[in-house]
Amino acid sequence: MSLAASKSPKNIVVVGGGIQGTSVAFALAERDFKVTVLEAVRPASAASGKGGGFMARSWGDGGPTEGLHHVAFDLYETLAPSLGCTSYRKLPVLSVSPGKSPLDLATKKRHGEMLPSWLDGNLGRVSVMGSGDDTAQITPSEFVEKMLEKHAGRIHVVKGTCTGVTCTEQNQVSSVEYSDENSKACSLIADTVIVSAGPWSCAAEDWFDGALKLPMEGVKSTSIVWKKPESIETVDATALFCGEDSRFGTHLEVYPRPNGEIYICGIGGSDYISTEELKQGAFRNECNAKDARVKAAVASFQEMSSTYRQNGELEKQQACMRPCPPDAMPYMGAVPGYSGAYINAGHNCWGIAWAPACGQAMAELILDGQSKCVDLSLFDPARFTPAAQRGERGRKRQGTSVGEQW
Ligand SMILES: Cc1cc2nc3c(=O)[nH]c(=O)nc-3n(C[C@H](O)[C@H](O)[C@H](O)COP(=O)(O)OP(=O)(O)OC[C@H]3O[C@@H](n4cnc5c(N)ncnc54)[C@H](O)[C@@H]3O)c2cc1C
Repeated sequence: MSLAASKSPKNIVVVGGGIQGTSVAFALAERDFKVTVLEAVRPASAASGKGGGFMARSWGDGGPTEGLHHVAFDLYETLAPSLGCTSYRKLPVLSVSPGKSPLDLATKKRHGEMLPSWLDGNLGRVSVMGSGDDTAQITPSEFVEKMLEKHAGRIHVVKGTCTGVTCTEQNQVSSVEYSDENSKACSLIADTVIVSAGPWSCAAEDWFDGALKLPMEGVKSTSIVWKKPESIETVDATALFCGEDSRFGTHLEVYPRPNGEIYICGIGGSDYISTEELKQGAFRNECNAKDARVKAAVASFQEMSSTYRQNGELEKQQACMRPCPPDAMPYMGAVPGYSGAYINAGHNCWGIAWAPACGQAMAELILDGQSKCVDLSLFDPARFTPAAQRGERGRKRQGTSVGEQW
């Protein structure tokens, strides 16, 4: 059990300026609270700047994360236009399998306008996954920028890498420690801290003296972005989920964006980064694409698109990490045994789609004592922490008894 929530926090610090941390800060700012976002690199520098930005309202139906899908999808629908996000739109989705010949007339007729004109290469089977009513997209870096812009007076971004959290003897958060750009040790006064640092959030295991186990794997994947070819007027808005292409080892996810770019992930050959490596900050400052996977993605997509085979030019090749707890469920809730300490991390492959719901749920938990918009009970950050170890500050460090003086 956590201690009582600090309902009128004076000094709130969010660790991590990705889409998740910024969404928490935004939801708190919407309720007139001032928030400091402590960010090691720059806002949306990691997966929240390099992810696809696809969302689907009903794709989580029947599972524990259904509420996150629903609440966030509905929030985006009003929030994105009100913030002036030009990258948000609903779009249809097709499932496409790789093949050796162009589509026949009957298939073209069946799918009509849903078939994008750039899908003019060799394909296998095509079927509809979403007609465009409950599937949408946003470019996540734009959403982060717009949230910060709207509350520039309430959300203050500080550049620095969190190194720890200091608490009173009663386990009330009192400050957040960090290392600034010149590696100088600095401190932010805080009565409330929300650790929302994506895959690197597992470092909080040490910040709360082992009161919490946050096992995490970072799945590091390459993605590419195509420029709009000059040969075409518009890039039709249909997303594709492609079957395994054994010729190239890819299973592409293809997201055309309103600015004419096409974003592609699902390139295969991902690397798995361990909790221990993440705690050391692995790939936080630099995370590069793998050349061989870029080549595979280009070849696999150009098989499907003659337009891009003839006129395709890459805008970006990049890599970023998905934050994955062992049960693929996010960590959202209070740190057991502490006052004013929270975790919001590990949102896996839906961290963009769920962000506004996570922000609102965390703000409700912090300010009202519980989340009303989403049931957080299944996302307890202490679910991997042995019961005897929870909140045992001052007596155990990562499960080992170290005495009262520690
Ligand atoms: C290739 C790819 C495609 C994806 N596509 C989609 C998609 O289409 N739809 C979807 O919903 N999701 C998608 N995802 C998942 C989504 O991108 C992530 O779940 C989401 O971005 C996680 O956001 P975050 O804010 O938790 O973490 P991050 O974006 O990783 O941000 C964490 C931030 O914390 C900072 N930080 C880390 N450690 C510290 C520290 N000690 N002190 C201060 N700051 C720190 C980092 O610098 C970083 O800016 C995709 C992921 C990948 C890899």
